[in-house]
Amino acid sequence: MKVVKFVFPPLDNNVYLAYDKSEGVVIDVALGADAIVEFVKKHNINILYLINTHAHIDHTAHNYKLKELLGIKIALHKNDHALLKEFFNSNYPFIHEEFKYVEPDVLLEDGQIIKFGNVEMKVIHTPGHTPGSICLYVENEGILFSGDTLFAGTYGRTDFPYSSEEDMIKSLRKLSNLPKDVKVYPGHYEETKIGYESWLKEI
Ligand SMILES: [Zn+2]
Ligand SMILES: [Zn+2]
Repeated sequence: MKVVKFVFPPLDNNVYLAYDKSEGVVIDVALGADAIVEFVKKHNINILYLINTHAHIDHTAHNYKLKELLGIKIALHKNDHALLKEFFNSNYPFIHEEFKYVEPDVLLEDGQIIKFGNVEMKVIHTPGHTPGSICLYVENEGILFSGDTLFAGTYGRTDFPYSSEEDMIKSLRKLSNLPKDVKVYPGHYEETKIGYESWLKEI
């Protein structure tokens, strides 16, 4: 599996393209639809899904555009479905272009497997930052996409009205049980490894 990382506005969002044998998925989109389309056309990659790690607008603003341009399906955890709709009804001073709501095509659940090429990517439900936050784990590659749940040295905000610190702690404990050498690709900032985040064991 190949992983390509992009950093896009509006909030220095990490967007990942994961692919194998010319088939792949995009993990979050931010405001990067045009650049992603350019890349996948150039490299002839068939994108099956845009997976939202959670509903926050900085990660999902171009959902509609990537769907329009590539005809992909949008997948999001079922517990963030209502929030996604709600977030698209607000104004954001940090977004200076059009964005509009589109219904997700697939509502994900814990343990669900997403397949592309020879890859099996597993959904791990990690509520806390939002009720439907997920991590995506590719066990045989030792790779975890952690959204805004786990960052290098810290974890995602839990001070939103719909967040839960208690759920976040449980989710982080779940991640602490992954093998130490699992590489972590978060929704913001730099990559890390489970083994580098020794605080996870003490939380
Ligand atoms: Zn977020
Ligand atoms: Zn974020």
